[in-house]
Amino acid sequence: MSQAIERETMEVDVLFVGAGPATLASAIHLMNQLEAFNRSAEAAGRSPIEPPTVLVIEKGAEVGDHMLSGGVMNPKAIGELIPDFVEQGFPTEYVCDYAGFWIFHPKGKISAPMVPPNFQKKGYHVVSLNKVAKWLAERAEAAGAEVYPGFAGDELLIEGDRVVGVRTGDMGIDKNGQPKGTFTPGMDIFAKVTVLGEGVRGSLSKQLIERFGLQGVNPQSFETGIKEIWKIDPKKHRPGRVVHGLAFPKILKEFHGMWLYDMQDDLISYGFVTTLNSESPHCDPHLEAQKFKTNPWMKNLLEGAELVKYGAKVIPTGGLYAQPKLYTDGALLIGDSASMCNAQNLAGIHMAIKTGMLAAETIIDALEQGDFTSKTLGGYAERYRNSWAYTEHYQARNFAPSAEKGIAYFMLNEPLRMITGGRGLKDDMRTEPGHSMMKKLSELPPEEREKEPFEFDGVLTFSKEHLVGFSGTAHEADQPPHLVVADTDLCSTTCAEEFGNPCENFCPAAVYEMVPDTANPGRKKLFIHHENCVHCKTCDIADPYQIITWTPPEGGEGPSYDGM
Ligand SMILES: Cc1cc2nc3c(=O)[nH]c(=O)nc-3n(C[C@H](O)[C@H](O)[C@H](O)COP(=O)(O)OP(=O)(O)OC[C@H]3O[C@@H](n4cnc5c(N)ncnc54)[C@H](O)[C@@H]3O)c2cc1C
Ligand code: SF4
Repeated sequence: MSQAIERETMEVDVLFVGAGPATLASAIHLMNQLEAFNRSAEAAGRSPIEPPTVLVIEKGAEVGDHMLSGGVMNPKAIGELIPDFVEQGFPTEYVCDYAGFWIFHPKGKISAPMVPPNFQKKGYHVVSLNKVAKWLAERAEAAGAEVYPGFAGDELLIEGDRVVGVRTGDMGIDKNGQPKGTFTPGMDIFAKVTVLGEGVRGSLSKQLIERFGLQGVNPQSFETGIKEIWKIDPKKHRPGRVVHGLAFPKILKEFHGMWLYDMQDDLISYGFVTTLNSESPHCDPHLEAQKFKTNPWMKNLLEGAELVKYGAKVIPTGGLYAQPKLYTDGALLIGDSASMCNAQNLAGIHMAIKTGMLAAETIIDALEQGDFTSKTLGGYAERYRNSWAYTEHYQARNFAPSAEKGIAYFMLNEPLRMITGGRGLKDDMRTEPGHSMMKKLSELPPEEREKEPFEFDGVLTFSKEHLVGFSGTAHEADQPPHLVVADTDLCSTTCAEEFGNPCENFCPAAVYEMVPDTANPGRKKLFIHHENCVHCKTCDIADPYQIITWTPPEGGEGPSYDGM
């Protein structure tokens, strides 16, 4: 259908996809640096650069709607971007003055006598990334960029071997793929340079990396983070507290971690992170986050508290060795789309901002030279290599490969990594994709083949169906599901038998359900509750057959992560 459609076109100089910290910082820096460039060019009698047209598109209905982060931010990069960010009213909740590393055990918790260096967060800013994105977007617009929320980048526009822009998604198509009365075709936005800052597992970034063979030396690794905001008893609220922790003895079997940060108005940000390389098809990040709250200390903290918000999002944890080539003709990758999150420190906001700034400086070179090929855009990779962001990643380079070797290896290797500048026992280790670790039910010990039952109490712990209501997510029901399952027959047959349909477990929003198949008595078929999707991307990653593809739904749909 798309071939015959007449589409509106638009031309800009610089197109940013996604309105996250990476792209918004990049747009601000681009405009500020350009002004500085032109001032000095004028003083030196050189030609100035014509101010570029800059557009940021965002799939959420509002900027910030799809932002979900733990929210403790290293202030280094924002201080470089906007040195007086505090005076300009940056939305800091609190500055961390207590950083703890706690071990939770069946009777409560103990504080580790020494906080590991990667969790020493004193002086870091606790933020809501939703508020930060809004704050940055205001500054990007004031600097001259246009920001269009409600527009999802659906397809890369490529001419020959060069990226020339992005096609936004069509709107108003019914569930059978037919245009409705409200049909509006997506727009072709042509740009001299397209900067992908879609965050984790970006759908266009995936296309770009595959099409141009930009993959890093290791496949990306991932964790799913569940976040809840609660309003707690003011007496239990502790401004400036930043806690990371783990559950003992569970940690001896599985990698996971938790965070707890206090926010304004007696709110807390609680999160639980589960790695997506589990051997168990029952791996269920939402369930793990619920179970963790039954620890006596957590139970006490949340007694009488009120749940305010729920959400989930994947974290890219592969680090340096999973980083793709950062540029190709006409395009750049920044932030989480480029594996810039430092998983060792659970810190990606400052990396997103910094890589956005480095990309902006390179775009100024490209504008000056009128060249948007790899020859000039490659300067971004060079700048990155000479920056503190690379040094930080280099120190953390073996974190993900070491974690993948199992708890015993990791525990032994961690102290060694710390004293050998990040090397540890072995450097440059190869990893396998997380989904390939999942074992078939028949390969598990008999007592592990059934998922352990768990009763949600509706006070402290809640079902996925209930929690989705706290994510603010909304999707038009009459549209083609944006979760594309290549072979649903496989779900009913091979997957049901081999893995027991793990999509019902790993999706934190109850999107996938195996329901009785009336046409085939005794069999079940897949039903997709696509309207529940919180855009976390777990299914696109964790499915053992790799037949699920997450695609953007109509622009403006998805979660509404106010205050997250
Ligand atoms: C659970 C969790 C906890 C974390 N905790 C911390 C922490 O405490 N401290 C820290 O520093 N970092 C933390 N991080 C990491 C940090 O949040 C990320 O590294 C950072 O947000 C990356 O910024 P970004 O701009 O690259 O992408 P994002 O912040 O993900 O922004 C990308 C934007 O692009 C939009 N988008 C995506 N695809 C499209 C498309 N095709 N068309 C249009 N728009 C699109 C998305 O809707 C989104 O708004 C955490 C991450 C998670 C998931
Ligand atoms: S359908 Fe996929 S992307 Fe959507 S909430 Fe479930 S796992 Fe996340």
